[in-house]
Amino acid sequence: MSLSCVMVDNLTRDVRKKTMRAVKGKSTRIEKRLFALLASAGIRGWKKNVVAIRGKPDIAFTEHRVAIFIDGCFWHGCPVCAKKLPQTNRRYWKRKIKRNIEIAEFTNRHLRRRGWRVVRVWGHDVERGDGATKILDRIHRILLVRENTRGIFSSSQDKK
Ligand SMILES: [Zn+2]
Repeated sequence: MSLSCVMVDNLTRDVRKKTMRAVKGKSTRIEKRLFALLASAGIRGWKKNVVAIRGKPDIAFTEHRVAIFIDGCFWHGCPVCAKKLPQTNRRYWKRKIKRNIEIAEFTNRHLRRRGWRVVRVWGHDVERGDGATKILDRIHRILLVRENTRGIFSSSQDKK
């Protein structure tokens, strides 16, 4: 990054850092919750935060080509939660969120064209008990449809 970039960026850097810390920390917690849910449901064969796959899915079943993205309610402009934008730099945040949505759509198309089943879930659903149950059911069904489920679901003997 050039020096001039850094200088221009300084204008919004502080507020952005602050908000990113606040919101990102949260989304990491949500990710962890979904990882734990999958593990406790005995669903196996997935990797987390797979950098090698377009969009870096939060969860990827590489063998079955199923990619799961958790869309943070703030970052993706969730209509249910309608999170408030920070007081300052509202235009920046609006653009940022719009861009995130566009990137998500682009990622979906890119992966689907290559045979991936893309699943997007809202952060608020991961957090809620009933939402989480629905997500697990959905993932379960998709994996079943994607056949050859052997090895994905651990038997009860595997659990300790
Ligand atoms: Zn939401």
